[in-house]
Amino acid sequence: MDMNFKPLMPHPVKRPVVIAGPCSAETEVQVMETARQLKEAGQAVDFYRAGIWKPRTRPNSFEGVGKEGLQWLKKVKAEFGFKTCTEVANTAHVFHALKSDVDLLWLGARTTVNPFSVQEIADALEGVDKPILIKNPINPDLGLWIGAIERIYKAGLHRIGVIHRGFSSHGETKFRNVPRWQIAIELKRRFPDLMMICDNSHICGRRDILGEIAQQAMDLNYAGIMTETHCTPDEAWSDAAQQITPQVFKELVDNLVIREENSQDLQVNQNIGDLRNQIDELDEEVINLIANRMKLADAIGAYKKRNNISILQSSRFNDILKQAIIQGEKKGLSQGFITTYLHAIHQESINHQKEVYQKTETKTEKEKDVT
Ligand code: PEP
Ligand code: MN
Repeated sequence: MDMNFKPLMPHPVKRPVVIAGPCSAETEVQVMETARQLKEAGQAVDFYRAGIWKPRTRPNSFEGVGKEGLQWLKKVKAEFGFKTCTEVANTAHVFHALKSDVDLLWLGARTTVNPFSVQEIADALEGVDKPILIKNPINPDLGLWIGAIERIYKAGLHRIGVIHRGFSSHGETKFRNVPRWQIAIELKRRFPDLMMICDNSHICGRRDILGEIAQQAMDLNYAGIMTETHCTPDEAWSDAAQQITPQVFKELVDNLVIREENSQDLQVNQNIGDLRNQIDELDEEVINLIANRMKLADAIGAYKKRNNISILQSSRFNDILKQAIIQGEKKGLSQGFITTYLHAIHQESINHQKEVYQKTETKTEKEKDVT
C-alpha cells in the first residue's frame, strides 16, 4: 500500500526527539514532580509520556490509574509547556484521550500484535488528525507492524511514526526485549519518511545499558528516544528496574553523539563514494561467484541423479561448514555469520538440484511418451 506520511511535528526536527516521563501515571504528585524535575534539569521534552492504562502480563499488577490521570497530563502541559502522550488500546481510551487533549497517542506492542484491536482504534480515530506512534509488535513480525501502520493510515491519520521497543525472545539475553535492529532498519528502508523512535527502556529493561542502546539508535539515524523517567524510580509501581531519574536522563541525552546522515563536505562524500564503488564491485563479483557455484551444484545434481544418489549428503555439508568456520575465523568473520551464510547457500544449492531432478524426470516422461 502506498503511504505518504506527514511529519509528526512542525519541521525542522531536532535530533534527538525526546519522549520522556514515567512508565505509569501513579499519583498527581509523581506525574507533576517528574515533569518538574525534567524542566529543572533543563531537559527539552518534545512529548511527556505517562501510561494511563497499563497492559500488564498478570492480573493484580497495577493496571493504571485510568482517566483520572489524564487531568494530571493536562496540568503538566499547562504548568511546564510539555506536549503530552499516552498509550491507547481501545475505543474508550481513544475517546478519553481525545477529550482530554492529549497531543500524541501511541499503540502499545500488545496492541500492534492484534489486528482486531488496531482496527478498533483506527475506527475510533477515523477522520481525527492526531499524531500517532505505533510500537513494534512483541513478536518479530514486520508484516504485522506494517499492517498496523496501514490500518491507522487508512483511517485518515497520516502523521504516523513508529517506536522500536524490541521483541520477546526465548532464553537468557542481556535485554528485556531483544532489539533485532534489522527489522526496524528494513521498515525504515521501505518507508523512509516514517519517524523512528527508539524505546530504549523496554529494549533494555535495566538502567545500565540505556545509554548504549540510545547511542546505537542515534548511529542508525533514528529520530529520537522514548525513555521512562521517574522522580523516584526505585519506588515505581511498574517497570522500576528500567526507570531513571530526570537528572540521569539529562546526562544520558547530553552524552549522546548525534551524527548527521550525510556530510556537507564534498571531499568526505567523494571518499565515501569511492569506497562504496569498491563495495558495489565486490558485491557484483560475489554474486557472479555464487552464480558459478550454483552452476556447479546443477552439474553435480544432474550427475547424482544419473547415478541414483540422493540430493543430500549431510556429512559433506558439515565438512564445508567446519572448513569455512576455520577460514572465516582467520579472516575476522564470525562463526554466526559464516553459518548463516553457508546455510543460505546450501539451501539455494539444494533448491537448484531439486529443479534439476524434476527437469530430468519430466524429460524422461516425455521420452517415454515418444517411444
Ligand atoms: C509502555 O510504553 O509503558 C509499554 C507498555 O510499552 P510496550 O507496549 O512497549 O510494552
Ligand atoms: Mn513501561
